[in-house]
Amino acid sequence: AMYAAKRHRTAVERWRPELAAGTDLRLQAELRTAIDQGELVLHYQPLVDARTGAVVSLEALVRWDHPRHGLLSPAAFLPGAERSEVIQALTDRVLSEAIAQTARWHRTGWPVPVAVNLPAPVLAQDRIVGVIEGLLTEHRLPADALIVEITESAVMTRPDRSADHLRKIRELGVRVAMDDFGTGYTSLALLTQLPLDELKLDQTFVHGIHHARERAIVEAVAAMAKGLHLTLVAEGVEDQETADILTAAGFDVLQGYHFGRPVPPDRLDVATPARVPS
Ligand code: C2E
Ligand code: MG
Ligand code: MG
Ligand code: MG
Repeated sequence: AMYAAKRHRTAVERWRPELAAGTDLRLQAELRTAIDQGELVLHYQPLVDARTGAVVSLEALVRWDHPRHGLLSPAAFLPGAERSEVIQALTDRVLSEAIAQTARWHRTGWPVPVAVNLPAPVLAQDRIVGVIEGLLTEHRLPADALIVEITESAVMTRPDRSADHLRKIRELGVRVAMDDFGTGYTSLALLTQLPLDELKLDQTFVHGIHHARERAIVEAVAAMAKGLHLTLVAEGVEDQETADILTAAGFDVLQGYHFGRPVPPDRLDVATPARVPS
């Protein structure tokens, strides 16, 4: 069993009580080395205006370019990383790389905003506000070129501290998006209290849009987002028909394979950003 876990990194996803601790420790040690060696890479996926199709922002998505196992998706290593301190270093690296890349795009005439995912244990730490402020200053990036995506669990784990940090991050001018909305445990009251700019409806509802129940949720969330003056984003849009339904329902921004898959930064066409490779 130990041998299998070593050969296939994704084995960390298949939790086995007798292996979990050791697998986590090895993963965390290897991740530290990977961060130092620059093996974490960011791919970028476009978000488009539902009405015009113009690219309005990008989401940075981390991958591990593993020397033996190839390009690993976040599902293979993020859950293990989030169970330890290494998630702090990983997120620092992601923020630093995303902000540096965004600043390069801004300098070369493409002022596109970029979204970074902030995991719960990172948002709970006091240091996160200073980390973000320091990186924006270092790379001279305007704060409104950065969006942080948080999940419902991120604000529910340590509600007071996380909401306080989020407020301070937003006071810098950074925008805040609630990711995977509808899959967590946010009370609707919290939505009115949190400093939010965007709501990203989880892709499970988008994929089920042809069913009456998912459709009802999609339309109710659209009405709620409008009432709360939140920019409403749908993720996981894989075809034109779904895009049309969401646009008619009032969604502002769409993200999904239909408009472009996550790609390395040099594969995004900066001159004509609407035509990203798909
Ligand atoms: P997410 O933030 O909700 O990101 C969207 C995920 O949906 C991405 O998966 C993206 O590749 C995928 N996706 C986009 N369009 C479509 C589509 O049309 N159909 C389908 N089926 N999927 C689509 P990915 O890159 O594997 O990331 C998975 C999750 O890992 C992310 O979900 C996010 O929670 C987390 N993640 C990714 N990068 C980072 C990071 O840098 N830091 C942290 N903390 N978490 C990250
Ligand atoms: Mg996200
Ligand atoms: Mg999401
Ligand atoms: Mg998701």
